[in-house]
Amino acid sequence: MHRLYENDDITVFWDSDKCFHAKRCVTGCPGVFEFGRRPWIDLSRGKNPDIWQTVKKCPSGALDIVYNHDVKIELDEENFRSIALLGEICIGECDYRDDGKDFTIYHTEVDPAYSDRGIAKRLVFKVTEAAEKRKCGVIPVCSYAVRVLQKKE
Ligand code: SF4
Repeated sequence: MHRLYENDDITVFWDSDKCFHAKRCVTGCPGVFEFGRRPWIDLSRGKNPDIWQTVKKCPSGALDIVYNHDVKIELDEENFRSIALLGEICIGECDYRDDGKDFTIYHTEVDPAYSDRGIAKRLVFKVTEAAEKRKCGVIPVCSYAVRVLQKKE
């Protein structure tokens, strides 16, 4: 399972395939991370610096975190893609095919002027989360998505 948790400033990623339930997140930032609650990560219950430090201590790599840099990620289902918006300007997208059973991610691209900000990962996770919520599979074809979604880093 792949999920994103966002507030105005940060995005936290969670990849359940990598989580081995060491619970450092739960003890590091109680309230923000709470197993059994839905959603189990609630960024409104903590301060960004504390959340950042806690995520960085996740021993499995299941959690990751980036600053948003004022970039919003939206799912554009009509056009089978997720998009990265800086104000009104689209600076990146992740394209997929939806055959009703699987989402095949075949292209991910971010304007090079905005690289190294975690935008591409947010785009891929947005599509993956949408697929999983529809109980569809995810087939990464573009090399970036393959790397981001691989089971072990
Ligand atoms: S710290 Fe990481 S590995 Fe441990 S429970 Fe939290 S997400 Fe899972």
